[in-house]
Amino acid sequence: MNDSKILLSGIQPSGQLHIGNYFGAMKQFVDLQNEYDSFIFIADFHALTTVQNPKELNENIINVAIDYLAVGLDPQKTTIFKQSDSPQVTELAWIFEAITTMPYLMRAHAFKDAEAKNKDINVGVFNYPLLMAADILIRDADVVPVGFDQKQHVEIARDVAEKFNRIYGETFKIPEPLILETVKTVPGTDGQKMSKSHKNTIPLFATNQEIKDAVMRIPTDSKGIEEPKNPEADNIFALHKFVTEGPEFGELRDKYEAGGIGYKESKEILIKNLIAFITPLRERRKILEEDTASVREILKEGGKKANERAEEKMREVRNKIGITIS
Ligand code: ATP
Ligand code: MG
Repeated sequence: MNDSKILLSGIQPSGQLHIGNYFGAMKQFVDLQNEYDSFIFIADFHALTTVQNPKELNENIINVAIDYLAVGLDPQKTTIFKQSDSPQVTELAWIFEAITTMPYLMRAHAFKDAEAKNKDINVGVFNYPLLMAADILIRDADVVPVGFDQKQHVEIARDVAEKFNRIYGETFKIPEPLILETVKTVPGTDGQKMSKSHKNTIPLFATNQEIKDAVMRIPTDSKGIEEPKNPEADNIFALHKFVTEGPEFGELRDKYEAGGIGYKESKEILIKNLIAFITPLRERRKILEEDTASVREILKEGGKKANERAEEKMREVRNKIGITIS
């Protein structure tokens, strides 16, 4: 596996994972783990910008680790680890901060969105893209599978790598984002981006009741059953794209366009298909939940390996920037 290309991505332990995380990012982690030397982490340093309850953060970390295993990440093929087990990323982020301008980071969409909602935004949210650049570049990642919302952050990582290489000489690989064009952004039950922090999710391991409640919350317009409907403008149909397959999907689209299906029936079909998709995942997760000792062991081993690799890269970086005294 040594000459395989390197894949790196992560998810924040900032709440319950949802089907947006799965279709946007995790599915790619699983599908690509045979092809790449894969590193998938739990972004606990990142989550500190929003989760400041230690007990909650600790539980979330284990939960994401279980989730990774439940969707099919294989620790024999993928190094699964906690971001904070490689504290070198914070050191590298600082080095990147020193070569990045404020106006450049102020253009980041995620920062602008967060700032629009809350003026008391913390410095961590502002610097987030540079910590993410450090996560990626410290591992010499070739590819970074992410959802569309993270595209700009991977572009920032590319810019930072180029800038560092210009100043200090060739050091970092330029990573490529892997974004599924068919997925882009999975909408939440309110039509906005599905996000752990927006309370608009369909949890990836939801109970049948949670699935029903979430789907029933999806707002629709007031068109009657027989009226033609634009499937592309409907929040329910947007979710059918992920779990309704084959002829059923085509028939549904035809009925939307011709008229003959109401939103209630469309929701019922969506609930049925979500239950079919989620039930086996939930069952796999339940088995893993019973043996968290093994999960902790996997994290520990992954953390050790990830740390060794990060330290090796940082030795090179420290030499390049002139802080090593021999
Ligand atoms: P938070 O609200 O705390 O930011 P999140 O739901 O956005 O949580 P992240 O941990 O920030 O999740 O992102 C993990 C991965 O999931 C990223 O690759 C991100 O692009 C992807 N992702 C998150 N939400 C969606 C979505 N709605 N559609 C597609 N991909 C998504
Ligand atoms: Mg996010």
